[in-house]
Amino acid sequence: MIHLVKGKFYITTAIPYVNAAPHIGHALEFVQTDVIARWHKLIGDEVFLTTGADENAQKNVQAAEEAGITTRQLCDSNAAVFRGLADKIGLSYDSFLRSSISKDHWPGVNKLWELCKKSGDIYKKKYRGLYCVGCEQFYTESELVNGLCPEHKRKPEIVEEENYFFRLSKYQKQIEKLIESGKLKIVPETRKHEVLSFVKQGLEDFSVSRSAKRLKGWGVPVPSDDSQIMYVWFDALNVYQTSIGFGIDEKKYKKWWPANLHVIGKGIVRFHAVYWPAILLSAGLKLPESILVHGYITLNGQKISKSLGNTIDPLELFDKYSVDAIRYFLVKEIPIGDDGDFSEKALINRINGELVADLGNLVYRVLSLSEKFKGKIEGKPELDKRLDLKKIQDRMENYQLNEALEGAWEFIRATNKYVNENEPWKLQGKELSNVLYNLLEACRVISILVSPFIPETSEKINEQLGVKEGELKDCKFEKFIGKIKKGQYLFKKIEDKI
Ligand SMILES: [Zn+2]
Repeated sequence: MIHLVKGKFYITTAIPYVNAAPHIGHALEFVQTDVIARWHKLIGDEVFLTTGADENAQKNVQAAEEAGITTRQLCDSNAAVFRGLADKIGLSYDSFLRSSISKDHWPGVNKLWELCKKSGDIYKKKYRGLYCVGCEQFYTESELVNGLCPEHKRKPEIVEEENYFFRLSKYQKQIEKLIESGKLKIVPETRKHEVLSFVKQGLEDFSVSRSAKRLKGWGVPVPSDDSQIMYVWFDALNVYQTSIGFGIDEKKYKKWWPANLHVIGKGIVRFHAVYWPAILLSAGLKLPESILVHGYITLNGQKISKSLGNTIDPLELFDKYSVDAIRYFLVKEIPIGDDGDFSEKALINRINGELVADLGNLVYRVLSLSEKFKGKIEGKPELDKRLDLKKIQDRMENYQLNEALEGAWEFIRATNKYVNENEPWKLQGKELSNVLYNLLEACRVISILVSPFIPETSEKINEQLGVKEGELKDCKFEKFIGKIKKGQYLFKKIEDKI
């Protein structure tokens, strides 16, 4: 359930590793997060959106070595690529925080460490374990599939070290209760059950530092022990706090924390639903309200990931089609929580069948008729009865983004039907004025409804109608006070045969 009380809404994307180019899975997460953020602005909330780059991983050190550049150089150029994707896709972020930039992030990381240490939850221990560098995570034998990491299909390394540990075991009962009661909400339910069964198996303390030598000194040093670097997850999760001032600007932090929603992929649920709340409990800090877990995008039924090397470059897709077409496709095709398949054929079908035929044609038709009409456009609301705003709201509150978008589309189709029923090209005078009034108000309302999903298109509709950007409360028919200026078609039909 989306936070219903109007006020502040703090939402985050996961903070991606930057050791390779972004793939379409990142685009999916950015779009889902952005749609929810924009929806909250639409209902009148003050919104803060955090994204960024997780740069303190051992993977980055290795990738830089292979490329023959410094880790700093690798992170600079890769973070810029991720930021480019966020910008291109229209992710309305307020903070893009890079975890290797010490002045922004490290004071808060040190603060969190000290708070956990003060609670007696950080201690030193020697151990030996199976470690996947791809995941930056230890695995037990039983978690491996044929001796390989289930995510990366590669053999984990045996690592023996003396490290600092975090007393996760101490928080097992508390975490279990929080998740079970829904106080820490995990959406969808299937993920909640997965996490719960993991927690119920028993939580073991986990190491929160690595040898500085093995990491070649890259990362956040453990306070007062520079032989150790903090475990990348310990610092990366804390981006959610440092991006809003934790350790630097207490006033700002108090305003925004706790997060209302973390949006993440299904591969990192454990870190967010178990480790993160435990660390926060230890530090005496508030917990996030909800965690929304999305699935993976497949390409011909195959998982797409940088580790497997079968990626589609999302930036190329945006250039080939349009940002809004991709945003629309990702929301419509892939319900939150589910996996979904990407193909250009399906994308083109949706562009031609829905964006061009339903929305683009409607707006073009209405504006052409209205521009030709010389009299005053006024009338009585009648088409508004075909809009079910409550249904759209309910669906958004349950994170059914695709269904909410479908709800907006039902109104678009109803408006097209209204055109066909009334045949305005046969009308004149008052009758025509009334139909045009209803159609223009419908277009204005449609522009508001689709704005979280396809914001550029919404802007274009507003421009052509000559109206200001609206909020959800403006989704009722009033006097039409726009100044019509018909522009280009909103979407171009794609002729490519694929
Ligand atoms: Zn792995």
